[in-house]
Amino acid sequence: MSSENQCNLCSVSKYKIIFQKDDIKIVKCSGCGLVYTIPMPEASRIKELFLEDYTRIKTENNFSHSPLRDQIYSEALECLGNLMKPGRLLDIGCSYGQFMAAARDKGWKVTGVEPCVAAARHAREHYKIEAINDIFTEEKFQPESFDAVTMWDTLIYMPDPSTNLLTIKNILKKSGVLVIRVDDIEALYPRIEGMFRSIRKKWSHLEPGVNLYNFSRKTLKAMLEKCGFKVLRIANSEKLWWSVSVPGNPVKKTLLKAVRWTARNFNMGDAMIAYARKI
Ligand SMILES: [Zn+2]
Repeated sequence: MSSENQCNLCSVSKYKIIFQKDDIKIVKCSGCGLVYTIPMPEASRIKELFLEDYTRIKTENNFSHSPLRDQIYSEALECLGNLMKPGRLLDIGCSYGQFMAAARDKGWKVTGVEPCVAAARHAREHYKIEAINDIFTEEKFQPESFDAVTMWDTLIYMPDPSTNLLTIKNILKKSGVLVIRVDDIEALYPRIEGMFRSIRKKWSHLEPGVNLYNFSRKTLKAMLEKCGFKVLRIANSEKLWWSVSVPGNPVKKTLLKAVRWTARNFNMGDAMIAYARKI
């Protein structure tokens, strides 16, 4: 086994294959439980992969208004606002700019970085927000220049998340806060879906060739701590429901609200949001 298959969290090279599709394996580290992809694509390929990935997504979904997404952003900004006053915020993987627009409305001075050309352009032209069209690298930003950094479903696409988190620590000011949202592989829905992976030949939360990493609360917390952060809170979230539009019918609307409440409060959703402070 080559060293390139070493775990990004604990450096152990022993793992168990939990899912495989063609030549791509999803493995679980025997040392710490981190779930990751083998082979890992070269960092230089990441921008191309993002472009390919975005072309698979219906563009209108990215532009469309989602009340649930707005609510999740609003809750996260409220939580962030309880931790610090608005200052400079960097949104890594800012997509079409919806979160940055919501943050700006709350008084944050926002910058985004986004590898997809169309998404970065939309953020700039529609929201008039600075969105750098590139992958995130340290040299683009000054040390200790941001009060907060946010990553909405971005960390799982980075081939070397530990190095990226160390970079984020460097560009954060003293006591700066990092907010990360990722899928939670141990939430109920991904676990149930995973039980049927060999029959369905599919596991949407761990789809080989799409996500490079899959975190649990334990592995996300451990990686943040290893990279110099104190984890303040990890909240349940629900990525699944982002794509569900709220129907106009009040009964359906109430039902969806109840399902979302249950998912969030009993960890039956599929994602989590971590709030961590630079130490
Ligand atoms: Zn490990």
